[in-house]
Amino acid sequence: MNTHSPRYIGRFAPSPTGPLHLGSMLTALASYLDAKSNKGLWLVRIDDLDPPRAANGACGQILNTLERFQLNWDDEVVYQSQRHSHYQDYLQRCIALKLAYRCTCSRNKIIAAGGIYAGTCLTSPPPRDEKTYAIRIKSPKTPIKFKDQCQGEVKQHIPSTVGDFIIKRKDGLYAYHLACAVDDHLQGITHIVRGRDLMDSTPRQIYLQQVLGFSTPSYLHLPVVVNSKGQKLSKQTHAPNVAQLPVKDTLYHLLFALGLTPPESIKDNIGLMLDWGIDHWRSRDTINKQSIIESSLNF
Ligand SMILES: [Zn+2]
Repeated sequence: MNTHSPRYIGRFAPSPTGPLHLGSMLTALASYLDAKSNKGLWLVRIDDLDPPRAANGACGQILNTLERFQLNWDDEVVYQSQRHSHYQDYLQRCIALKLAYRCTCSRNKIIAAGGIYAGTCLTSPPPRDEKTYAIRIKSPKTPIKFKDQCQGEVKQHIPSTVGDFIIKRKDGLYAYHLACAVDDHLQGITHIVRGRDLMDSTPRQIYLQQVLGFSTPSYLHLPVVVNSKGQKLSKQTHAPNVAQLPVKDTLYHLLFALGLTPPESIKDNIGLMLDWGIDHWRSRDTINKQSIIESSLNF
């Protein structure tokens, strides 16, 4: 990691479940502009915790697309799949704090009971010799609050939203929230810019930061890009691969989607568009908070 510690370190952390679509590209661009307009560092982390879901070749394709858009990252790319020992260390800390417990409940059983985990295995623990179990963390009684840079005040009472949540899965994989909180801390991330679809999980990550003694970064949750049916762009909704779109046009329209109005005269130059975006990013208050319709990007 960097030996100097600027007051701003941002990151873009895609899950390599497929190529970048316009929604993920919007996030990449916004986090880059936010970092650079604050004279900060911009890091890329591949959140590939879940190898079966990581699509073949997606990592290379994501990095290649970022390079074509000239979104150059400031340090080596970090891969979550190579950081299990860190997650294990902090999982142990949760156990030592007596906040973690074993759970053998099936997902279906929890969904059937309303989807909020009621602490079944806390009150009646599974047998000692049980080999297959998830590890959950006790959720905090008081609500978690934070001020989002785009969405405003956010407050969530975890016990009545999800209940005690998983930090290590039954299949042995570390849960995304734990990995994310640990990596953001170890990478010294001070500012997180990401999609609004992840905002529901932010309080869980903030809670883990509090439990583990980490500082909480500043958050900015962007609107998600939706198709004409109102569905979030994803592999499942057959969102077009950004790698197949023309870079300059795409970048130009993404700047508009972020509430900026770049002059047409810079449309032919990626570097100029990025520099212009960095200079004008402070108008982020103009971002539409909820969602951006894909067709408004003029493709
Ligand atoms: Zn259980």
